[in-house]
Amino acid sequence: MEPDCLFCRLVRDGDHVHAADGFVAVEDINPQAPVHVLVLPERHVDTFRDVSEFSDQEAKRMLEFVAETAEKVGLTDYRVVVNVGEGGGQTVFHLHWHILGGRNLEERGL
Ligand code: AMP
Ligand code: ZN
Repeated sequence: MEPDCLFCRLVRDGDHVHAADGFVAVEDINPQAPVHVLVLPERHVDTFRDVSEFSDQEAKRMLEFVAETAEKVGLTDYRVVVNVGEGGGQTVFHLHWHILGGRNLEERGL
């Protein structure tokens, strides 16, 4: 837990659409698609660059949790995005996975 980290606070106090085994999912506050949720590891890791901080088992569970969350919010077809570093569009430095989906993702040019 990093005291000044927005997503550490969301892990603790946020409205979770899914939570299990050290991971939570929340709705993005500024959705870029009809369905836009974020998957956060409870443990603070700055960026995907540091993914090796997870054990093999945690890393596997994280990927399963992303797929489970998409299913739970009703998506079968969707996009998974991780922005890495400022140059990659990362604005919050607590690793997170975007799940984007819903009707007409392609048509909307997303
Ligand atoms: P990124 O640019 O990949 O770091 O993504 C950060 C995401 O966090 C953006 O899509 C924001 O809309 C989202 N976001 C920022 N603050 C909040 C919040 N309080 N609750 C939910 N999502 C947030
Ligand atoms: Zn954090």
